[in-house]
Order: sequence, then structure tokens, then C-alpha cells
Amino acid sequence: MRRIAFALLPLCMIGVLHAAEPSARARQLAQDAIIVDTHIDAPENAIGDWNDLTGSVPKREFDYPRAKEGGLDVPWMSIFTSAEEDQAGKAWTIANLQIDFVRSLATRAPDKFALLLSPQDVEKNIGKIMLPMGMENGAPIGDDLSKVQFFFDRGIRYITLCHGEDNRIADSSYVDTAKWGGLSPFGEKVVAEMNRLGIIVDVSHISDDALRDVLRITDVPVIASHSGFRHFTPTWKRNLPDDLAKDIAKEGGVIQIAFGTVFLDAKQSKEWGEKRAQMGAMKKAGKSQAEIEAFDKQFAKDHPAPVLHVDTVLDHIDYAVKVVGIDHVGIGSDFDGVSGELPVDLKSVKDFPVLVDGLLKRGYSEADIRKILGGNMLRVWTAIEAKAEKH
Ligand SMILES: [Zn+2]
Repeated sequence: MRRIAFALLPLCMIGVLHAAEPSARARQLAQDAIIVDTHIDAPENAIGDWNDLTGSVPKREFDYPRAKEGGLDVPWMSIFTSAEEDQAGKAWTIANLQIDFVRSLATRAPDKFALLLSPQDVEKNIGKIMLPMGMENGAPIGDDLSKVQFFFDRGIRYITLCHGEDNRIADSSYVDTAKWGGLSPFGEKVVAEMNRLGIIVDVSHISDDALRDVLRITDVPVIASHSGFRHFTPTWKRNLPDDLAKDIAKEGGVIQIAFGTVFLDAKQSKEWGEKRAQMGAMKKAGKSQAEIEAFDKQFAKDHPAPVLHVDTVLDHIDYAVKVVGIDHVGIGSDFDGVSGELPVDLKSVKDFPVLVDGLLKRGYSEADIRKILGGNMLRVWTAIEAKAEKH
């Protein structure tokens, strides 16, 4: 029966099936290794459309059953607020609601999930899905430095300094406004306070100048929680240029490769940049948020994402390893954050064995694969925590 069904499939589908069938060795390694994914946008989705992630939720890219199936151990939950939410005065409330959501997973299903506040607690929670929290956009801090401690106390362990627009802390790579020419004076204080507390500085999304400022100020390594290399997307400043990636590595940090097709594909990232510029112009011209969102939707329809495979992520990892070295590369998928625009064989947290299979086929040793999957990120987090003031 199986053979007949297989014969009826068009050739391209056979390719997809083949790619999605990782070897037993890859499955085993995915289960054995500690997989740390530094960017999953599940909490943001929960605010608009709550689902019980302790069970199966097929329309999402992260839930408990698929995390177990894929061998995922430490998915960082992104506490995301947009520039628009900040400007509407909603960032504080939305961030706190998302934190409540993540904490509730661990309290409702303590047999399945554990809130993770320190890398020292990974070992004792093996078997559970551990949930550290990273705040994507420092907007909820407002202009009050004491809120950095507040969010540390609520469990936040990294902060992406800004998102789609320049904020009170740093300039964004999505726009050319360069309000501060890098970090703001307040942003410099925020970075120092994060160092003091042991909150990781995440340099994804910030402008090149802001990244240079961060590296000048920080006492400890930094991470890029979900980024790619600009080498593959020359017009798109959201991805890192080689020289700054090398600087991150020189300071001991790690670059976590994102899986979204926009990070991987030159044409899509170029179109995406043009779309973003047009949306910025509409905003300046006084168009309503509804009009801008309608344009965004239509643009997505007119410019479908390319059909990519895991090889494009593997190419990115190969390149990253070549430029910054095996000790400075990890993974930050951006699952649940890129509208499903992902390689066809890397669609959700259950697909990590596909990535592992690809790494094995490209000749990486098991020890090196463990570094990429999570070892590097845990080393960096441990170093940052060790340098923090005891409190
Ligand atoms: Zn992001």
C-alpha cells in the first residue's frame, strides 16, 4: 500500500518527504543534545488568540507535544511589543500579559514545563520543556531605569533593545532615521544596568551603529537572538555584516541563526525592505493603522515567500562557522513570528531532527552539533550570569 501511494506522488513531493525523514541517528542526537532555541514568538500570539500549548495546537509552530517530538529543551519565549504598541502606550501592559502567559504554562503544567531563570537549572529540569523569557523590544521599560530590575524580577533574561523603529534606547535596522546615531544616552544606562543584573543584551534588530555602541559599553558577551548574515541578503540591514559578527564573537558572544525565509533569501528580504519603507512613508503621510495593515496584507499576497529547504539554513550555518568560528553559532528559529514563511521541511519545533540530519550530512561532528544546538548559548548565558552582581 505504502509503495503504491508513494508512486502516485509527484516528484517534487517525494523530495519534500525525503528531506523531512531524518535518520535515526539524527533523531537520537536531537533527543540527547540540549536544544536551545533563542526566539519563539508564542506569547505574542496568545494575546490575540489564546491556545493551550500544553496540548497539540497544529496552527502554531510551538506546542508541548511537538517540542518533545523535536527534542527541544530550552525554547526562549519572546515577550514582544511593536513600535506601534509602544506609541499607543500599550507596551507595558502587553509585555506583562505575555509574561503572565508564559509563567502560567509552568504553573498549570509543572510536569511538562518549567520556568527557567538561570542556566544552572537546566540540568535538574531535563525532561521538561524549560521556558526562559527574552523581551523583544525594550519599549516596556519606558524611560524608567528601575523597570530593568522590575523585568528581571519578573523573569526576563534577555532584552532585544529595540524592534521596528528607533525607540528610547536604540536605533533600529529597519529604518534609516538614526534618531540617536546608535544607542541613546538612556540606552547606555540600560545596557550597563542589564550587565549589572545579568540580563543578556540582544543585538538583533538594532542598527549597525547601535551595535558598535553596545560592544563599546558592555562588560560581558552579547547575543544576536535571531539574525542571519547580510552576506546572503546584501540590501537588508536586519542581518549582520561580517565585521560586526566577528566583533560579537571576539567579545565571546553568539549569533543565533534564524530560520524565516526573509533572513535567508536575497530577493524576499529586498522586497520586504521596500515594503517596510512604503509603510513608513504611509505613516508619515498620516494614513491610518488599518490602511497600513491592509497594504501589508496585500503586499504579502502579491509577493509570496520563496519555497526554500533546510539547505538554506545549513548554508547560513556553514558560512557563520567559517566567519566567526564553531563556538559562536547557535539557533534562534523565530517560529511563530514569521507568518509561517519558513523552509518547507523546517516548519515547526518538531523538525529539529531535520536540521541535525543536515548538519551530520555536512560532516559536523556530534560535539560541534551540540555546540550549535545549545552548548554555545548556555556557555554565554553562564558567563554573563557569573559576572552579574549577586542579588
Ligand atoms: Zn524579531
